[in-house]
Amino acid sequence: MNNIYNFSAGPAMLPKEIMLKAQNQLLNWNNLGVSILELSHRSTEFIYFFKKCIENLRYLLNIPKEYTILFCHGGARGQFSAIPMNLLNQQDTTDYICSGFWSQAAAKEAKKYCYVNVINIIQKKTCGNISLIPMKEWPIQNNSKYIHYCPNETIEGIAIEEEPIWFQNRKIIGDFSSTLLSKEINIKKYAMIYASAQKNVGVSGLTIVIIKKELLCLNNKFIPSILNYSTLYNSQSMFNTPATFSWYIAGLIFKWLINLGGVKSIEKKNNKKSSYLYHFIDHSKFYHNNIEKKYRSKMNVTFDLKNKELTNVFVKEAIEYKLLALKGHVARGGIRASLYNSMPFSGVKKLVKFMSLFEQKYH
Ligand SMILES: *Cc1c(COP(=O)(O)O)cnc(C)c1O
Repeated sequence: MNNIYNFSAGPAMLPKEIMLKAQNQLLNWNNLGVSILELSHRSTEFIYFFKKCIENLRYLLNIPKEYTILFCHGGARGQFSAIPMNLLNQQDTTDYICSGFWSQAAAKEAKKYCYVNVINIIQKKTCGNISLIPMKEWPIQNNSKYIHYCPNETIEGIAIEEEPIWFQNRKIIGDFSSTLLSKEINIKKYAMIYASAQKNVGVSGLTIVIIKKELLCLNNKFIPSILNYSTLYNSQSMFNTPATFSWYIAGLIFKWLINLGGVKSIEKKNNKKSSYLYHFIDHSKFYHNNIEKKYRSKMNVTFDLKNKELTNVFVKEAIEYKLLALKGHVARGGIRASLYNSMPFSGVKKLVKFMSLFEQKYH
């Protein structure tokens, strides 16, 4: 298993030390003589663990008191439905900013529950490059209840790094599924952010919602209880049996991040990894990335081979070189290297080495 690097977009790689720890503790967690897999979520030990887990996440992201953290089911897609259900009435109107696959999917789902003003911010430049309409020029409506956007489009590798500005005190909601905990953010700029765990936080089964408490009050009785933020808040995220193992892994990851020096420190590492790869791509005549530099994702680096016929050969030979899951999502094609928190710099170095060898072979 040594020297294998997994660039999967999600479920994504985990730090080896976390998996070893989970393996080590699997049969006997906390000296209880039983596994975390067979322990009640109502047990004193699990509740204590969860309390610490939430405290650590609050510390890592500097989450103010006015916000609550909910651990939910149903993935980010579950939130695509839960958000309009919880925060709106059917006659309300919203703004959905579309910068790629996932923000479009969120808008499409929301249309079932409210009026959605879709704002496509992707611009094709004459040179063929992809750019975005800057935030201050987003054509927001006067009467929308909230603005939803996705700061990191996992499939296209497009990111909006700048923090949201207040549009006349409009509520801002962000889908942080592929970027939560990768960099410092100012939670106060948002009414709510959410992320499914299997990209940058842990394993699938857990969806994290961070929401201003004052938004919990609208209590529509038609919302399924497991999607109802007030119900989840009142039951400490344990209205029904939670995905305990996913919560456990997330808890290990939070501790791991704190030991590494927190989000600020991982952000530096992440910047170094993506800059190294983009620098190589930009200085090559063989590979190409067509996104304006300002909007390139640091988590999901997408690129194409100028000779597209070599894409499958690239993916196949990369696997032989022990670099896995580089094939781009079917909706985009090409290559995608996901460089989440768990990916060490050595993985990116090895990828660049391979890309260079591949170019020498086929140019
Ligand atoms: C993966 C992803 C989703 C979908 O997440 P699920 O947990 O599969 O529902 C939504 N948004 C973004 C930005 C993603 O990366």
